[in-house]
Amino acid sequence: MARFSRTARIMTIVSGIGIAAWLLTRQRTAQEALEPDIYAIPVTAGTYAYLLTKENPTRLLLVDTGVPGSERRILNCIAALGARAEHLEAIILTHWHRDHAGGLGALFDLVPHAFAYAHPIDAERIRSGTQGFIRVRGILPGLLTRGSLPQRPVELRPDQAARVRDLDPAAPPTLLADWGLTAIFTPGHTAGHIALYTSARGLLFAGDALGCFGRLVATPPLFDDEHAMEQSAAKLIALGPRRVFPGHVRPSPVGVMSTMKEISSAHVWKVLETVLGLGVRAQMS
Ligand SMILES: [Zn+2]
Repeated sequence: MARFSRTARIMTIVSGIGIAAWLLTRQRTAQEALEPDIYAIPVTAGTYAYLLTKENPTRLLLVDTGVPGSERRILNCIAALGARAEHLEAIILTHWHRDHAGGLGALFDLVPHAFAYAHPIDAERIRSGTQGFIRVRGILPGLLTRGSLPQRPVELRPDQAARVRDLDPAAPPTLLADWGLTAIFTPGHTAGHIALYTSARGLLFAGDALGCFGRLVATPPLFDDEHAMEQSAAKLIALGPRRVFPGHVRPSPVGVMSTMKEISSAHVWKVLETVLGLGVRAQMS
């Protein structure tokens, strides 16, 4: 009961951020074409999985699987594009949290040929189902959570766990290059968090290493290692991506981030960071 209560509190935070974003922007209920070959799938309010497509589209790659129960929305998106479940080649998980990897087990049963890939640290937690802890910063999130929350990864059967493979960013599987993607090790939000980047197109699938609030980039109030999270955020911002596709809130508009300036000293953002725990990193122009 206590675990449920703490989980409910963390979901309240995440949902609150999503609702705020919904009020500020627009929450879509169906897939949205972000680029001609890339679709955002709103798996829950303010939470996104991303579908990459090729060849009209008979080849598909999924980034994250959403919360448990998201598999139907993902398959609906695939069907709406005129593709089939067996066209899904692989699933890349940015990290082990249930709102990103929670749909994996049910999705595995619907896409029998696809493997999932995650950084070896997070892949091991997903395979083993070992509980982790999510630390929290900010006054309001801290009051709601008492500073830390336990969470278990999605529960997988042994045959499903065997389909979760290690993705070492230093020696990535060849399928990543085939999709024009580079995996970037971005520890901090979780110990094995990865982002995906298409350097040729300047597109960044940031997972929870960064969020987008309109034209602002922010780090989330939840983390495993706060210092590492800040370093990873700086690493991603230094890439100068053209667009950011985060796990939560809205994907960034087209053509942003051509120039960015640090505004972390601005008082209003200090207040945001102190109260809400959102580390606003930079402004996109
Ligand atoms: Zn997360």
